Amino acid sequence: MRLGGPAVRSQNTVYALAATLSADTVYRADLLTSLQRMAGNAAVHQALGTGELRPIGVSGKRTPASGLGGAFSVHGTTDATFDGGTGKMLNQKATPSKTCTDCPEGQCMHVTGTLAVSYHVDVVVTMPDVPDGLNACEEAKARQFINATLRDHENDHVRRFKTYNGTKNIPVNITACGESDATSQVQTLHDADEQKRQGDAQALSDAIDPFTKSIDLSDCQK
Ligand SMILES: [Zn+2]
Repeated sequence: MRLGGPAVRSQNTVYALAATLSADTVYRADLLTSLQRMAGNAAVHQALGTGELRPIGVSGKRTPASGLGGAFSVHGTTDATFDGGTGKMLNQKATPSKTCTDCPEGQCMHVTGTLAVSYHVDVVVTMPDVPDGLNACEEAKARQFINATLRDHENDHVRRFKTYNGTKNIPVNITACGESDATSQVQTLHDADEQKRQGDAQALSDAIDPFTKSIDLSDCQK
């Protein structure tokens, strides 16, 4: 007897990271160049023996640092494919019965046994790339977040989905009119068990969402 069919559910998860980046002012190279020029001028003045140094004005070029100016988010995804379960009857006994209604003579039967169902789920985790547009400091922090915090969270989804795995023994005690009716009734028992098992695993996974964590980028704003 063949029972069950493939069932597919996917689980999408969304992670929001609050990241505030300020537009900053950068001097660096221009300022250094100016300081070198100033030192050079001082040396020239001293070499000329004037003993006086005119005030030299220097200024740096103002350059806005690139920033995202708001929030960015990364998303991890854990997809689960439930196999729907495969069941077979153990210790099956069929005996003639008289309790059917509207059933041809000799077709009514009482069936007992144990329906043994084995369940399996395949789980695939997809991790996001580090977002574009981050500076080196921010990128390192985002990468660490994805590889540690977000990965742990997705692995938790995996563990929860995998509660679907295993076997279940379902007692069968039915009265049926003919073999196809018996098969159909056992299929119904199987489907009800599978639906609940899949729903339970899905609910366990859903229970840890939404998952929202912030990355502290304050160190990167210097
Ligand atoms: Zn999640």
